[in-house]
Amino acid sequence: MPSQRDDCLFCGLVREGDHVAQTKGFVAVKDINPAAPVHLLVIPEQHVDSFREVGEFSARESKRMLEFVAETAQEAGLVDYKVQVNVGPSAGQTIFHLHWHVLGDPRHGTQPETTAVSEL
Ligand code: AMP
Ligand code: ZN
Repeated sequence: MPSQRDDCLFCGLVREGDHVAQTKGFVAVKDINPAAPVHLLVIPEQHVDSFREVGEFSARESKRMLEFVAETAQEAGLVDYKVQVNVGPSAGQTIFHLHWHVLGDPRHGTQPETTAVSEL
């Protein structure tokens, strides 16, 4: 297990949370206080306080983290969605273990917004 903090809530969720998705080095959980019909949090197993420290991940891990954010959204049935990272208290960060909010509604974006040639 990568470096963890005993006093960190999200390190605890990594170890024994109810994971809706997981891959090597990362997990996804449901946000306890959802702000959208689907609100997931993608959390790296390695404790870093915030996105400011993203350089602590290797290039390969960083790429994998972003891919996992996209996979988690897709597996949750989201086509259109928001990805948000709050960095620092005045930007809304309340848990100081890096996490990615994935917010959306599976009912939105299910139809590609294309215009048929016959309508042009
Ligand atoms: P942030 O404000 O960006 O640090 O996001 C922290 C998020 O963690 C908030 O959306 C909270 O609702 C969520 N949260 C807090 N405690 C838990 C928990 N035990 N399980 C799942 N989500 C949590
Ligand atoms: Zn932590």
